[in-house]
Amino acid sequence: METIFLSSFFLVFGASIGSFLNVLIDRLPNDQGIHGRSKCDYCGKKIAWYDLFPVFSYFILGGKCRHCKKKLSFQYPLIEVLTGVIFLLVFLSGKGSSYWGLFALLGIVSSLIVIFVSDLKYHLISDYLLGSLTIFSFVLHLTNLVSWQFILKEQVASALIVSLPIFLIYFLSHEKAMGLGDVYLTAIMGFLLGWKAGFLALYFAFVTGAIIGIILLIRHKRKIKSRIPFGPFLVAGTVLMIFWGDKALDLVRSIYGF
Ligand SMILES: [Zn+2]
Repeated sequence: METIFLSSFFLVFGASIGSFLNVLIDRLPNDQGIHGRSKCDYCGKKIAWYDLFPVFSYFILGGKCRHCKKKLSFQYPLIEVLTGVIFLLVFLSGKGSSYWGLFALLGIVSSLIVIFVSDLKYHLISDYLLGSLTIFSFVLHLTNLVSWQFILKEQVASALIVSLPIFLIYFLSHEKAMGLGDVYLTAIMGFLLGWKAGFLALYFAFVTGAIIGIILLIRHKRKIKSRIPFGPFLVAGTVLMIFWGDKALDLVRSIYGF
């Protein structure tokens, strides 16, 4: 009974946070403030409070703006539902062993969702998100009862090691293949996951990135030069390692025997 109640709470809470993440996704890369109420992308009319309920409002309005009747982006309900489901998964995974741990994990997945979509849409990863991701990761490490001196030594070393390959690609390709945002993101992945899981996440990102890249190349006859953002793949690898990192590391150990 308690689990059902808490599960629905995290689902609804996540959807509300998702509504806020939608604002961050579109405003941060465009250097707009996050204050002030949401406006319609087309007619610029402010959206009334009663039209701001996550998911429900979108469907009650039939996916259209109340004033100009233009179609609202499907991104809004999608991100709200997705965030709700991910919050529920975080809760059910039992990974956040304490209140602070749970808080940090929810902050981490929220930051990752915004990075995923804004990099996909605008090819940009906001510094604010890299900052929030670092802070939430630091809090998560602190809840695991490790001292901050230990965190600095172990995790910062991991950050440097994991980001090194991406930095080299960034440097040698003269920013063409990777952006500085990708370098920072991989450094935070190392900081968050440690070097082993960090490298696995990186490996996963490269493999999935290559597969998607080839599919796009064949289907849309895209030129190799048109850049596919790498951030979403890094985020996917990171989420995979946060939830299934232990299993993935066991699998690698059983294959390579170390
Ligand atoms: Zn409108």
